[in-house]
Amino acid sequence: MKTAVFSTKPYDMEYLGRAFQDAGIEHEFFEARLRKKTAKLARNFEAVCIFVNDTADAEVLEELSGFGIKLVTLRCAGFNNVDLKKAEELGIKVTRVPAYSPYSVAEHTIGLMLSLNRHFHRAFWRVREANFSLDGLMGFDMHGKTVGVIGTGSIGRVVCRILNGFGMKVLGYDIYEDEELKKLGITYTDTETIFKESDIITLHTPLTPETKYLINENTLAMMKEGIMLINTSRGGLVDTRAVISALKSGRIGSLGLDVYEEEGDLFFEDLSDYIVQDDVFMRLLTFPNVLITGHQAFFTTNAMEAIAETTAQNIKSLEVGRELENSVTTEKTA
Ligand code: NAD
Repeated sequence: MKTAVFSTKPYDMEYLGRAFQDAGIEHEFFEARLRKKTAKLARNFEAVCIFVNDTADAEVLEELSGFGIKLVTLRCAGFNNVDLKKAEELGIKVTRVPAYSPYSVAEHTIGLMLSLNRHFHRAFWRVREANFSLDGLMGFDMHGKTVGVIGTGSIGRVVCRILNGFGMKVLGYDIYEDEELKKLGITYTDTETIFKESDIITLHTPLTPETKYLINENTLAMMKEGIMLINTSRGGLVDTRAVISALKSGRIGSLGLDVYEEEGDLFFEDLSDYIVQDDVFMRLLTFPNVLITGHQAFFTTNAMEAIAETTAQNIKSLEVGRELENSVTTEKTA
């Protein structure tokens, strides 16, 4: 199935290129993101392969359908950037990579927590300048503290297990409770209890209309003074302006982000020679207790191999008429 790959970076060419070649999938790589202006690149293809900041909204899908595109295959887990209803109307199948390496994102999440708590990001620069003062670098023992994990699916589950190993009291919230986690001693509760009792809160739900701005002025007001908040899931879970106010007031003691609600205009590009126009994002960068990575939590060799392999299988499945086990529909998400 001839596939147009959007938002291509050199590492995509390496990993996807190898997997597509092994599977005999004809393909072409495009650096451009998929959006209205670039959809025409998919003319003469049968499938498009997209990533987190590509746009497959109704308008784009209409155009793709006109070119005969039969498959939108996401090389990521989240699918909030695809209008599933429209895709179904047009008969376009949508697949994703539901789980590649939950460890990649979970371990990055823990990395953000440890860095913020023990101020690695500040210590790194101090020591390089021969400033060995410890002022401002004091952390806390995570052992014995309470962490709230919102979303205990593939990634949240691994986060729970790791933090349980740290000796933290782990509170979980999900629409489905995981019996294995309960056996480990993880306590399921409601979000309000998580907001009120946690010292650290970490987000692992997908972005849906229900989870949009889960962290907002009201929920922040319920949290302990000095809460550590981590979001490696999707930027839209957090109302960034409310978070900035909470950082200014001290309600949020530290903030770790791998995702940002307007990241589409920033992340994955080298903008170091440009003036970034997003004042909200730039304000976040001024806080010493904020650590931001540019959507790199997934970025391990293991994850890239698994993503490429599953994406190739997803394309092959449609080509040979096999059941699409990783399909995403309005009814069901694999
Ligand atoms: P998953 O589908 O395995 O788990 C998501 C969990 O959220 C499920 O258990 C689901 O029941 C729960 N959930 C859904 N709606 C909910 C709601 N309204 N309230 C409470 N819980 C709800 O997904 P995953 O693989 O664990 O990934 C989680 C998210 O992480 C993805 O949706 C994606 O947005 C993000 N992600 C980020 C990166 C990165 O590089 N930063 C990489 C992969 C995934």
